[in-house]
Formats: sequence, structure tokens, C-alpha cells
Amino acid sequence: MHGGYKKQMENSLAESLIARLEMMKEAKMEYLPIPKGKTPEQKLAYLRDEIVGNCQRCKLATGRTNLVFGAGNARAELVFVGEAPGAEEDKQGEPFVGRSGQLLTKMIEAMGYQRSDVYICNVVKSRPPDNRDPEPDEVAACEPFLKAQLSIIQPKVIVALGRYACQCLLRTTTPLSKIRGEWASYEGIALMPTFHPAYLLRNPPAKREVWEDLQKVMTRLKG
Ligand code: SF4
Repeated sequence: MHGGYKKQMENSLAESLIARLEMMKEAKMEYLPIPKGKTPEQKLAYLRDEIVGNCQRCKLATGRTNLVFGAGNARAELVFVGEAPGAEEDKQGEPFVGRSGQLLTKMIEAMGYQRSDVYICNVVKSRPPDNRDPEPDEVAACEPFLKAQLSIIQPKVIVALGRYACQCLLRTTTPLSKIRGEWASYEGIALMPTFHPAYLLRNPPAKREVWEDLQKVMTRLKG
């Protein structure tokens, strides 16, 4: 696809996504009935088993092998959010388990955490066909689950991984290269946009920039 046309398509998809999400917000459709008086672990399990379950809310349900809800510490101060499950995640039902997942684990360990200390999930929980970007209606259907996860976990910081997750969470079409490394906010939680581990596998010199972003996160978490 021609580069300019592709960019135009991406921008128009992002704009349509933003409009749809704003509409949902106005209609107060993003809040889910999570029971009160339970532990974060129990609430996450309730969300996963009773609310998300075998979700059919969007067309991605038909192509998935496993729904990838998310994994990790229900009380994490740090949550990583990617775009969508890939082939390996879809196969195993776990987020970030392929080569990018191994690199993400190394990044987490370099920050002084174990993978089990943090929480890892994606904007959409079912794999898009051929690893295409999720479409606006799919994000609109799935984003309430992400919001519910975050409201249960109440992390101090979200690290958004990759162009799509960053633009989607920040409701912007600004290129990732311009917003990366600058603090932003999602649902009142500090958000650091940075590159996706898959991009770092293709472009190892960008690891330096990601490490700078993660250092900002570490400083904030220690503060
Ligand atoms: S992507 Fe989200 S909304 Fe769509 S089927 Fe999967 S879990 Fe449901």
C-alpha cells in the first residue's frame, strides 16, 4: 500500500475510533458491574470469568483460538498495555508470550521487577486476523474490559506499548515518535507511551529510547 494512503487510512480509522469512544462515554456504556467488597484478585477473576467469559461482543470472537484476558499481579503498581494478541498469544491464551514477550520480560527485569510483579494485557482481548490493527468497533466493544481491569488494579503507571495502543488510549493520531517518552494520562492514571517490543526486535537501536522511557517510569514509581 502506498505510504501516504496507508497513513491517511490509519488517521481516518483513528478518528472514527475516537468518535465512537466519545459516543460510548457519553452514553456511559463503559462501566461494568464489578462486585464490591472483594479482593482485587477476586474482582479480576469475576471480570474474566463472569463478565468477559466467552465474549462474542465483536467480530474478533469468530477468529480467535483463545481469548487473552491479561495476566499478572492484581495489585500491580505497573501495567503494560499492548495492542492485541498475536499468533502465539492466541494459541496459549496468555499475553506477550512470543519473542516480543521474552523481550518485554527482559525489560521488566531490567526495571527491577519480576514479570509476576506487574500486570500485562492488551487493548483488545481477541486476535485480529492476519495481525491487522483492531478496528474502531472492536476497540469500542472491548475497551470497557480494559477500563474495568485498570479500575480494579489501580496501578500508579501504565506503559502503553506501540503506536496503536498509544494512539488508541490517548485518543490521538499524532505519530508515536512525537508522543513517545512524554507523560500522558488514561483514566486518571499516568501513562508513558513507548515503542512495542516487536518494533525493538526489528530495530534494536530504539532500545535506548525505550530504556530512557522506562527509567522515567522507575523514577515516578519510586517517588
Ligand atoms: S476483542 Fe474483546 S469485545 Fe471483541 S470478542 Fe474479544 S473480548 Fe469480546
